[in-house]
Amino acid sequence: MVRSKGIISHRKGLTCEQEYGKERAIAIKEKSRESHKEQVAWNKGLKDCNKGTKAGFQKGHPKFNNYSFPKGHKPWNTGMKGFIAGKNHWNWRGGISKIDKLIRQIPEYKLWREKIFQRDDYTCKYCDTRGCYIEAHHLKQFKILLMLYGIKSLENARSCQELWDTNNGITLCLPCHNKTKLGRK
Ligand SMILES: [Zn+2]
Repeated sequence: MVRSKGIISHRKGLTCEQEYGKERAIAIKEKSRESHKEQVAWNKGLKDCNKGTKAGFQKGHPKFNNYSFPKGHKPWNTGMKGFIAGKNHWNWRGGISKIDKLIRQIPEYKLWREKIFQRDDYTCKYCDTRGCYIEAHHLKQFKILLMLYGIKSLENARSCQELWDTNNGITLCLPCHNKTKLGRK
């Protein structure tokens, strides 16, 4: 025990004896001992209290449980599937796919295609195959022409000269045509 060595004065670093003299020091020590008799150490009987509280804290603490969202909580993106689709999407081309399809069904388009086939003698201009399934390929992409001239109706399309220019078309067999489509959509 530290106390048996004598109470060290907080003022000078001297023992009680040195500071107050032998007699008085003994009296002080006695008094001190008496006053401490009834005291119970704060941690008496609390062996492992540290351990216990720590474990208890962890077990019941929400942070350490499998954290889950409160009932009724909605993820931020619920119901937002496709929320950038359509006109707000960066790749939106003003509904060109629709008019693209429509134009390919009108007689003018079929005539343009036929002119190219006849000019190329129904032969693939890439691989010289004849008599197989052929398609008319646009040298300048059809969709790009539609965008370029702002074609939004069949009337727009019919009045567009470049759209019906046979110099923008070439006859290709299916495999060759597919090759031209690689890397573009
Ligand atoms: Zn070919």
